[in-house]
Amino acid sequence: MHRTLHLHILGSGSKGNCALIEGPEGLIMIDNGFSRREIIARMHELDLDEGDVQALLLTHEHSDHISGVTVWCRRFDGALFASLGTADTKKYLASLPFTPFTPGAAFDVAGVHVETFPTSHDVVNPVGFRFTCAGDAIGFATDTGVLTPGAMKALRDCRILALESNHDVPTLRTGSYPRFLQDRIISERGHLSNAQAAAAVPKLVTERTEQLIAMHISQENNRPSLAVRALAEALGATLDNELGSSATLERGDGIPALHIRAAGQNRPISCW
Ligand SMILES: [Zn+2]
Ligand SMILES: [Zn+2]
Repeated sequence: MHRTLHLHILGSGSKGNCALIEGPEGLIMIDNGFSRREIIARMHELDLDEGDVQALLLTHEHSDHISGVTVWCRRFDGALFASLGTADTKKYLASLPFTPFTPGAAFDVAGVHVETFPTSHDVVNPVGFRFTCAGDAIGFATDTGVLTPGAMKALRDCRILALESNHDVPTLRTGSYPRFLQDRIISERGHLSNAQAAAAVPKLVTERTEQLIAMHISQENNRPSLAVRALAEALGATLDNELGSSATLERGDGIPALHIRAAGQNRPISCW
């Protein structure tokens, strides 16, 4: 079993996003949607050193993913990657030395191979990522209204899979959001629902998959336990507790168990 990569999620949701891939040569940051101070505090909580960040990658230009970029880059000389389009949408991003890539392109950084794929969201050129290194693989996709065939291919057969499970449709439809905003979230260029994520995971998870993390959970229109339950049900996993905060699929025959849980907005988690 190759476990050369790890995923640290500092926070995930509409109030801020930042995650880190830990590889052989340091850390690769995905999005920077918190204050520098908050990011460093959360990294320290996970025993990570901000000086180890080698690169910053952006998924897209919504402020919950980039609000901290300018301040972060004042004291950061690592590599910056954003899709063609993403870095041009905001003046303050355009002034930074981003290496642009076309969604679908691949590149290597900090000893890790990074494949990008287009996601479907109401911005210019949003992307998700597949990180591979020495036989290990992590899939990462948030902020997408649908999973295209390309996204499905890139996210399949990862040891760690971080997948958006944004809202529960009945909760959203009966909630306080105005109708136009509900429609935007549900649209093909909005966010993945629990049901959509649950429909996808049986095709994405393989015997190699050990961890499945529900990402970008709406605080208004979802609950972590609803997302975990939906994913667990789709895969035949058993809830670990009555709260439904996590679930496990035991598979026997030397196949590692699959653990399912939710990333939150306020507490950082590490996925080894
Ligand atoms: Zn977002
Ligand atoms: Zn977004």
